Amino acid sequence: MPKLSTKSQTKLNTCHSDLIKLIEAVAKTEKCAVICGHRGKAEQEKAYNSGASRARWGQSKHNHKPSLAVDVVPLPLDWEDIPAFEKLGEKIMAKAKDLGINIRWGRDFTNLKDYPHFELIG
Ligand SMILES: [Zn+2]
Repeated sequence: MPKLSTKSQTKLNTCHSDLIKLIEAVAKTEKCAVICGHRGKAEQEKAYNSGASRARWGQSKHNHKPSLAVDVVPLPLDWEDIPAFEKLGEKIMAKAKDLGINIRWGRDFTNLKDYPHFELIG
């Protein structure tokens, strides 16, 4: 049975309890890693400056404490393998529906597709 790495779990633990519940449930069957939970001010500005995020500090759901957004990637990680991101994303969205957790997938953003990004709505 796949299991989140300690590094992934530590990042996940900076997120809202609904996201923790959701990703832990998905990680029981899917090989995945959490690459971002809460993002502090310095980290957000760095992400903005590198182009990894379009949000300035305070504009991203990752800046809430606990974080209202989580970035999850399929393992083994290959950023070019979009079908792997689609597959993992579909599982996460289906599980969220099962658990009654309302989330939005960054893939569905109109300006910049953000495949690993999932955020709570409301
Ligand atoms: Zn994100």
